Amino acid sequence: MRLTIVGCSGSLAGPASSASSYLLQTRDKVGRLWSLVLDLGSGAFGPLQTLIQPEAVDAVALSHLHPDHCADLTGLAVYAKYRPGAVMDTLPVYGPADTARQLKAMQYSADPNSEGDLRVVPFQEGEPFQVGPMVATPYRVLHPVEAWGLRVVGPNSVRPGRTSVFAFSGDTDECPGLTKVAAGADLLLIEAAFQEGRDAFRGVHLTGLRAGRVASQAQAKRVVLTHLPPWNDPADTLQETEMAYAGPVHVARPRASYVF
Ligand SMILES: [Zn+2]
Ligand SMILES: [Zn+2]
Repeated sequence: MRLTIVGCSGSLAGPASSASSYLLQTRDKVGRLWSLVLDLGSGAFGPLQTLIQPEAVDAVALSHLHPDHCADLTGLAVYAKYRPGAVMDTLPVYGPADTARQLKAMQYSADPNSEGDLRVVPFQEGEPFQVGPMVATPYRVLHPVEAWGLRVVGPNSVRPGRTSVFAFSGDTDECPGLTKVAAGADLLLIEAAFQEGRDAFRGVHLTGLRAGRVASQAQAKRVVLTHLPPWNDPADTLQETEMAYAGPVHVARPRASYVF
């Protein structure tokens, strides 16, 4: 599998990046490329189009319905409905229970009863869905709104014939769901929005230190830190993570990609 960062700015679009969006891709046995978009936060649909034709996306999965994770679903919905020749009515959009209602509330549409041309499918705890050879399983995580992490098992692109595990935290603090998502991940994409000593309240986000602790307990092989708000110094977050996790750590930046 290959992960490409579309946008990684935490909580809002920043000067150097859109808000959260990630592209996870792999090829099946006959060489067909499969593409799963994780989150479409504020500003992300623009840079996504520099990486992939929207018609080529096979599925979208939204970790939760905060605007920095789903606002640009509006762009996708308009594209699907109005781009001449685009046939995207089978494109599944997986997400929280309220996703269809949120889409209706946000979307430009001549028909207020229309959900647009996207097919919304609510996540079910521990119930996997398939995107080509990738099997994705959602688990509830800990955030002020209904939020999900995603564990994806798919072809290993480094060791052909074997499988690889990708784990995405979504927005969360430490919780049992995150433990299930992250266990033994080959690549753990994990948010680290808060900083130790600065953001004292719990149940919303991880800090670099807590992300490192999760990675360590999960025995994750590689970590990518994401969702840092524009006012964080990435060096501070990285330093926190390295206090708790001894493996390789990267800080996400737009267009960076990782093969695993
Ligand atoms: Zn967020
Ligand atoms: Zn959030």
